[in-house]
Amino acid sequence: MKTIGLIGGMSWESSLKYYRTVNDRVRHRRGGLHSARCVMYSFDFDEIETLQHRGAWDEAARRMIDAARALERAGADFVVMCTNTMHMTAADVEAAIGIPLLHIADATADRIKAQGLRTVGLLATRFTMEQDFYKGRLIEKHGLEVLVPPAEDRQLVHDVIYNELCRGQIRDESRQRFQQIIRRLADEGAAGVILGCTEIPLAVTEKRIGPTVIVDANLVLARALVREACPSKLRPFAP
Ligand code: GLU
Repeated sequence: MKTIGLIGGMSWESSLKYYRTVNDRVRHRRGGLHSARCVMYSFDFDEIETLQHRGAWDEAARRMIDAARALERAGADFVVMCTNTMHMTAADVEAAIGIPLLHIADATADRIKAQGLRTVGLLATRFTMEQDFYKGRLIEKHGLEVLVPPAEDRQLVHDVIYNELCRGQIRDESRQRFQQIIRRLADEGAAGVILGCTEIPLAVTEKRIGPTVIVDANLVLARALVREACPSKLRPFAP
């Protein structure tokens, strides 16, 4: 089994879910007492959030590179970032390490295409919804059509992520607002909606809302990295 390097703590609420999912999937895949061989670098999210909202992306990239190199030195065979937003720095991280980085947008696009979807909505932080590092990759590299909510809804989603979900709070009102936004994206033609933020699945847990397929990018990445870490299922012992 390969050693997984997890860049986490952004926020720890969602890293907790990653850690659980990855271990659950390894147990499901290999059985018995098997669990994931992994190392995690967990940030103090307050420091990262401050850099994000100051627009200090160069410094944020340096922090991500330090974490990725530390994981490489600790024996990781590949790394993943347990956050969508920080994929803003993915190209810098990839260039600075000697092991692969599994990109969340690639794993998500593969899943979407396997489900036969082409037009999808994207719910995420404003950074992810408004800049090109994620949307652009889905469109240009994977040929998908990506819809984002209007400005007011983008702000609401962003505020709920940082002010509630990253603090471990899940309000019913916010759940309902997320559902309304997903329905509006569906009305505009989205056959699926990507939960492109590791915290949103804490509030949106449905697999479908009406006919709309909900694609949890984080779950998709967690599954992809387990397949990468242990490609073959363990065969039952046959004497
Ligand atoms: N975890 C979130 C994401 O997946 C938002 C927090 C962050 O900015 O890292 O984008």
